Amino acid sequence: MPRSLLRTRRPRGLALAATALLATALAVVHPTPALAWGPGAEPTQPYALPALPDVPKRGCQSTVADPAAPTGGTNALQVIYAWHDGNGNNYEANVEYLAKVVDRIDWAFDQSSNYDQHLNLSCRTGYDTSTYAGYARSLVVPEKIEAGTNPNTPAGTVRSDLISAGYQDSNRIYLVFTDFASNSDAYLCPTGGTSSGVHCSAVTESWTVGVGGHELFHVLGAPHAWFAETGQPYYQDIMYGWWDNWNVDPGFRTYYDPSELSAQFYIDNHPSTTLGNIANHPMLTTPVCCDSGASNDLLTAEQRTVEAATPGSTTSTFTSAGGWHQVTPACGVAANSCVYSDGRRSVQFNTYSGPHNASSIALSSRPAVTPGRTYKAFARLRSTTAVDAQLQLAWYNAGGTLLSTTSGSTSTVTGSWVEYRVTGTAPANAASVRVTVAVPNQSTTGNHALNVDSLQLDDCSANTGGVCRYDS
Ligand SMILES: [Zn+2]
Repeated sequence: MPRSLLRTRRPRGLALAATALLATALAVVHPTPALAWGPGAEPTQPYALPALPDVPKRGCQSTVADPAAPTGGTNALQVIYAWHDGNGNNYEANVEYLAKVVDRIDWAFDQSSNYDQHLNLSCRTGYDTSTYAGYARSLVVPEKIEAGTNPNTPAGTVRSDLISAGYQDSNRIYLVFTDFASNSDAYLCPTGGTSSGVHCSAVTESWTVGVGGHELFHVLGAPHAWFAETGQPYYQDIMYGWWDNWNVDPGFRTYYDPSELSAQFYIDNHPSTTLGNIANHPMLTTPVCCDSGASNDLLTAEQRTVEAATPGSTTSTFTSAGGWHQVTPACGVAANSCVYSDGRRSVQFNTYSGPHNASSIALSSRPAVTPGRTYKAFARLRSTTAVDAQLQLAWYNAGGTLLSTTSGSTSTVTGSWVEYRVTGTAPANAASVRVTVAVPNQSTTGNHALNVDSLQLDDCSANTGGVCRYDS
């Protein structure tokens, strides 16, 4: 179980932020006094967040008389406004703004995927929650941090105060907005509240979805989503790049898959063996299909990740032609593929000795499609010898006859796990699609070994605005 403290600096420059985050899986980054706190710029990818007045009111799911002793309350998130004498108590001026930020974090979480899933929010009695003013004061609780001082109060000081005040209950996790300069960080609590022995809280000086949401998703169990084998390049996702992306795990493969709750993902890089899927977190509602969101996926977790198959074995998840395939063999680490992108397994396609015209590896089963809708397939590819490859969407009718094929551009695959894509619209009479990685014209002699991982098939037409999942 990860119990690491994950810290986030405010992004005053991308290089600085990236440096800070790359070092944070288990390490403590030396706090840098922040220059300002409060509202800030929000990420705009995959599309702009709604203006705060337009964000739906999430409302209360667990209402208790004393938020510091929510005995008998159902699992929920407690939101706290933390202040100290250095900057004073500005609760009344900020409480409704902070409630709107929480509503927007909930909106962003729900809007990340085509599943309806929300935060459970804790409220206190004594307010008329039918009005926004009453709801905000019921949702956001003020707490004075007695030991807090200017210019910078560490998150650890905030946590010590909260624990002393009783805010450490097993049926609560905490999101704390500081009204003073602080660092922003969080503890991972993937299974629930503070019974695990750490304070299951996100503390942030940034009153934004980008940073506040990022830290809250850490508490739910999302790490900085490493998805490349040791020694290989690191590829970012939302938990890494909060400054430009607000949505959660668009690939459905690193820590969040609402479509398959039994799916578990390696949420840290090797040698950690921790598995997780925050869609199961008790502070969240059960995900329900289907609404509109930023991304979706038509594949199974096994098709995306190959994680259930045995290294070195064939897998019926894939079919190959002009070559043969296997789950990439183990090397060095027992039971693990030695080459992978998003977990511990990938599939390896070995072409027969060329030159020849067409060899390919494809998903054996064909997801259903609807004519006129747009689809986008993704895969990460890697090869130790340069080989030209392309992604294809092959459209079939209900009788299983190939109608046409949409081919992506041909690229030379090299030793890095680059993501490739192809976008196409299902033609008339299409009923299903085959996702294929093709070596369309192997002009060089000899065999090639192509590693394939991190597949996805996005139904762009089902996403908000008909926008395809963005490239990563
Ligand atoms: Zn972080």
